[in-house]
Amino acid sequence: MTLKLLQPWFAAGLHFSCTGCGNCCTGGPGFIWINDQELGRLAAFLKMSVQEVQQKYCHRIGRKLSLNEKKPNARGEYDCIFLKEVPAGTELNGQKLTITKRICEIYPVRPLQCRTWPFWDENLFTPEDWASAAAKRCPGMNAGQKKSKDWIIARRDATEWPAD
Ligand code: SF4
Ligand code: SF4
Repeated sequence: MTLKLLQPWFAAGLHFSCTGCGNCCTGGPGFIWINDQELGRLAAFLKMSVQEVQQKYCHRIGRKLSLNEKKPNARGEYDCIFLKEVPAGTELNGQKLTITKRICEIYPVRPLQCRTWPFWDENLFTPEDWASAAAKRCPGMNAGQKKSKDWIIARRDATEWPAD
């Protein structure tokens, strides 16, 4: 077997730059896993106790915790409890928005699952998997900055928050 055959299909890298559209924070009902350490960080960020955060924003699935989702919106999609729509015209970070945006209210402490999207195993098996994930409304994929193979693998296999 040649070395080339051992390379992943994305050995030449992939382009990705998040546009902040919020599409990956909504959709069909699902899970937004959060571990104990992340829960502690979220509680500190919200200036609440871990117990309060868990009661107000999380539900248990077996031994794991997931963030809650809101009731289906007008499009029949389930937004993460921390996804907030900011209408066009609103001042955000010193700039007036020209379009309506959806932002994560806990962005600095969002869970690993959110930090590593779309570089998940299931999206990286084959080019078709990557294309299929991109088609699920992630405009950041195949656009913007080029990410190296090593960067992609580190993100895919991360067990702790990667540096942004
Ligand atoms: S769907 Fe893609 S571009 Fe939009 S917020 Fe999520 S990662 Fe960023
Ligand atoms: S925690 Fe933030 S980034 Fe993660 S799904 Fe919710 S809104 Fe999106």
